[in-house]
Amino acid sequence: MTQPNHKDRAHALLSPSAADRWVACPPSARLSEQYPNESSPAAEDGTKAHELCEILLRRETYDSKDYTPEMIECAEAYAYYVTQELGLDTYHVEQRINIPGIPECFGTVDCYGVKGVTLYVIDYKYGQGVAVPAEHNKQMALYAYGLLKSAKLSTIADVQMTIFQPRTDELKTWTVDAVELQRWVEETIIPYGKMAYDGEGEQHIGDHCRWCPARVDCRAHLDLFPTLYETMQAEQATEAEKLSVLDRADEVIAYLTDLKQWATNQLLGGQPVSGWKLVEGRSVRTIPDYAALATRVASTGISEETLYERKPLGLTNLKKVIGAKLMTTLEEDGLIIKPEGKPTLVREEDPRKPLAIKEELLSHF
Ligand code: SF4
Repeated sequence: MTQPNHKDRAHALLSPSAADRWVACPPSARLSEQYPNESSPAAEDGTKAHELCEILLRRETYDSKDYTPEMIECAEAYAYYVTQELGLDTYHVEQRINIPGIPECFGTVDCYGVKGVTLYVIDYKYGQGVAVPAEHNKQMALYAYGLLKSAKLSTIADVQMTIFQPRTDELKTWTVDAVELQRWVEETIIPYGKMAYDGEGEQHIGDHCRWCPARVDCRAHLDLFPTLYETMQAEQATEAEKLSVLDRADEVIAYLTDLKQWATNQLLGGQPVSGWKLVEGRSVRTIPDYAALATRVASTGISEETLYERKPLGLTNLKKVIGAKLMTTLEEDGLIIKPEGKPTLVREEDPRKPLAIKEELLSHF
């Protein structure tokens, strides 16, 4: 058995997983080329979680010590979904797919299979911070397009694409006619892919900037500042002026956070940043080894028991101990509840329902 190795795979200039970004901002593809691929603990967890999924779907063995209980539980749920719920007898895992019509566009599909006249494409997402939608998901659409264009799949009538994201407790699918899907990809993705390959098009700021390696040096972000400044004409801002600044608030805050992180990284790496330096931040006293401390205190005659308190587990740790199934039962029985969230300001086009403002809330303002 060869252990899967996802982290050393070749990276495409136009990877389907970044299609949201290079479609919205085609120049970002060439700009990003100049930056190294940076990893993070969350990305490394994701890679490991995908490797385990591959092992399970290939029905190979693994050492449970190499994975967290949550990784194992999620991967088992994924394998169950593919083999039992979808009932795919034959499927392919971790296959490289070349996307015709766009140079240097390829990626690795987590799983696909065919049953009758339907092509199934499944994308596993281990992250839990951002729930990924299935509808019009460009990454899966490109994989499906690449597969449909390969001679072997000419009899397919429709495509079912699933985002399996177990840590968001939501399964999302998008089913679409195969001809319609190909037309959609050809009209809304491929022209931007070609533009991105040629380094053409306009920079455009949006949610897709979150993962852009070129963000700190991005001209479109820097241009936000004179634009905002120019909106202020008189000493007192009008409502329209305040709204025009509010309109860019998320982008400005995100950019400034990145910029500060960039300056910190430069200085940590020994590079000067004119006008800035690093100092030691505020620090609080801490106990590096509480067990050693407790033993020492107990030796003075104080009972060791008085040094510990019993505390309930947080939801994440509770789920690790009791498993997702019992968590769901406890929720159904009202032993785990989800209180109302704090009022949150979002843009009008956000898909969530607007908050019904209650009388008691109004009295606060
Ligand atoms: S950060 Fe700049 S270059 Fe990157 S996607 Fe956003 S607008 Fe485009």
